[in-house]
Amino acid sequence: MRTPFRPAPLTCQQFVELVGGYLDRSLPERLLRAVDEHLRGCDECREYLAQIRRTSIVLAELGVSLPIPQDLLDRLTAAFDEANALGLQDGQEP
Ligand SMILES: [Zn+2]
Repeated sequence: MRTPFRPAPLTCQQFVELVGGYLDRSLPERLLRAVDEHLRGCDECREYLAQIRRTSIVLAELGVSLPIPQDLLDRLTAAFDEANALGLQDGQEP
């Protein structure tokens, strides 16, 4: 018998790794939502995000973007898929 499983909230480290994709909205929808969730409960990351936003505006003006490593994205996406399949039935996915 399986214990009920809820998707683990993002850690601050995961947030930091994902922040570039969050800013340019290149993350899958469910990861964007996970980041939003984390920000709701974490003052430090909100502050960090504010700093990154300022920095990324400067970088954008220089034509630099903050890419997310594809393997990290695959890993996190798979983890979220698994979590959703196991415990989070919100009816928004087929
Ligand atoms: Zn945090």
